[in-house]
Amino acid sequence: MAENQPDLARTVEDYVASLPEGVRTPETVYRSRLALCLRCENLRDGTCALCGCYAEARAAKAAQQCPAVPPRWTPETEGEPE
Ligand code: SF4
Repeated sequence: MAENQPDLARTVEDYVASLPEGVRTPETVYRSRLALCLRCENLRDGTCALCGCYAEARAAKAAQQCPAVPPRWTPETEGEPE
């Protein structure tokens, strides 16, 4: 597993970079979401144990929210048209 992690990290990074601007979480919000995930007991090897997603991939989509109850971070709606 360990020797595959650089490839996996690159794959997640490429996925995040490929998200269209209207879908992707603004960088500052993305960083704050990941900071919360990093301190979360549900994070296991980069994967959220509650939803099975790679935390970076989930956090990178603005409309997503943390699956915990209550959620530790919520959908990003700032800047969306009314
Ligand atoms: S998405 Fe939520 S529950 Fe999952 S690791 Fe991040 S903060 Fe924890």
